Amino acid sequence: MSDLQWVSCEQIMPALVLFIDHELPTESEYQVFEFHFQNCPPCLQTMEHERTAIEFMQNLLRNTCTEQAPEGLNERILQQTQMLAGQTQVEFFSQTTITEFSFDGTTSIQVTQEFTQEIRHDFN
Ligand SMILES: [Zn+2]
Repeated sequence: MSDLQWVSCEQIMPALVLFIDHELPTESEYQVFEFHFQNCPPCLQTMEHERTAIEFMQNLLRNTCTEQAPEGLNERILQQTQMLAGQTQVEFFSQTTITEFSFDGTTSIQVTQEFTQEIRHDFN
């Protein structure tokens, strides 16, 4: 155990995928990672989330290879994106916030539209 070195979370995080994919160059690096995970629950949790996401993606890719990809899915996404873009140009009072976020390794784009309406009452 004495030869195991403690590395910081900042060093663990960027190489997380390498650990999950078994692409770390040496066996001792796996021990360093495992040692870190044993002592750092947040990193362990992140690693397990990443691993689940990667396995999910790999299953998805396998399914895409054997089965047919949903027809016209990309087209529909494109149409919706263009529709949203069009709305943004037409609706001057709307504010569109596009937030790109990653959850479990999946990158999604969240489009939030806020409509700012000025309600004026003219009593005169
Ligand atoms: Zn950590």
